[in-house]
Amino acid sequence: MFDKKKSMELFNIATKLIPGGVSSPVRAIKPYPFYINNAFGSKIYDVDQNEYLDYCLGYGPLILGHKNSKIKLSIENQLNNGWLYGTPCELEINFSKKIISHYYSIEMIRFVSTGTEATMSAIRLARGYKKCDKIIKIKGGYHGSHDSVLVSSGSGYLSNNLNKNLGIPIETIKNTYQVEYNDIESLIKLIDIEKENIACLIMEPILGNVGCIVPYNKEYLSEIRKITKENNILLIFDEIITGYRLRNGGAQEMYNIKPDITTLGKVIGGGLPIGAIGGKKEIMENFTPNGSVYQAGTFSGNPLSLCAGNSTINYLEKNNICLELNRKCILFFNHIKDFLSDKSLNEKYYFEGISSLFTLFFNKRPLNYSDVLKCDVKKYNLFWKMMLNDGIFLPPSQFETNFISSAHTNEELEKTAEIIEKNILLVDKKL
Ligand code: PLP
Repeated sequence: MFDKKKSMELFNIATKLIPGGVSSPVRAIKPYPFYINNAFGSKIYDVDQNEYLDYCLGYGPLILGHKNSKIKLSIENQLNNGWLYGTPCELEINFSKKIISHYYSIEMIRFVSTGTEATMSAIRLARGYKKCDKIIKIKGGYHGSHDSVLVSSGSGYLSNNLNKNLGIPIETIKNTYQVEYNDIESLIKLIDIEKENIACLIMEPILGNVGCIVPYNKEYLSEIRKITKENNILLIFDEIITGYRLRNGGAQEMYNIKPDITTLGKVIGGGLPIGAIGGKKEIMENFTPNGSVYQAGTFSGNPLSLCAGNSTINYLEKNNICLELNRKCILFFNHIKDFLSDKSLNEKYYFEGISSLFTLFFNKRPLNYSDVLKCDVKKYNLFWKMMLNDGIFLPPSQFETNFISSAHTNEELEKTAEIIEKNILLVDKKL
């Protein structure tokens, strides 16, 4: 058991100053979170001098691990030139070109400061372009913390068991339709009734905020594309997790789908705050100042985030990181999958691993949000604590995806697989 005395003391002070003691609810680990004061490579170090192997990685952005020396150097160089201008800078152009070269669905792009802002602006753009208000989202999909998408949302919304939609206007909720992931029939039914009024379907091509769920049927995403196109509904791929993770060109490259609008975030900021909206020129030109869909931000396209993002993407490209990382992860994934099969545990636990994302579900394979709700959360929480006591930090919820970075070594991954397997056996006997 690790000593976390100093973290406990800090948390006690924090709860008096900050609601719940945290700046974002997913961090509210019970009974108290651990406070990090340093991070390097695959590891984080807390104020009580404990070391953890990190599979949370800031919830995804740090594909190269913590404090990568190349990214650090480029940030330091940018710091010498200033970090906020309030005017355009050349980096915006270079970085736009780079992303456009990887995403064949993107002809124009605009940078914002968070993923939340990106999806909020993308939905406003779709509504403005289509001149109607309704949207469709996938149940359990998480697109940030703005009103239109906080209905049956994943991530912290789900982990905190929030289903009352408190603070969200009823009119907004009425404008958000929902269908289950991996269920084309329910989408067809919904569109048959309502198609005139629907501006867009926004979705994570791979669900990443209820744990990681992939298309069950390989035609699922192309059918979504076909149906939305036939019915003149804009398709927004929220690739804030999958962008520069599955491939440089994201899930759209992997599944060969061309959405109308794409949102990016996380990895493209290299660990600094960022978001982006990209799409066809004809749609994107509707943003102000050329069009009438308002979109703005004091920190949008700030040079520090652009610089960290640009050097991260250059590094990924030059060193073929996505594919190399994917290859490395397969060994780790197979280790755990083989273990579950050998021990005949497949009906109780399902391991999903794709690219450098993974989730161990405490139930049989889930295909959608409703399935995920049947997972044994109590058991997961016990397992999570055991992992932490073994020095491995997984995201503290069954409903979050785990991330692997290029800084994780084969030895670390193998050790992690062995600890996961040991703790599955322990938790399985305990409850
Ligand atoms: N979209 C997806 C798929 C996400 O996973 C997240 C955050 O986890 C967001 C949007 C919101 O991004 P941010 O937290 O940067 O606002």
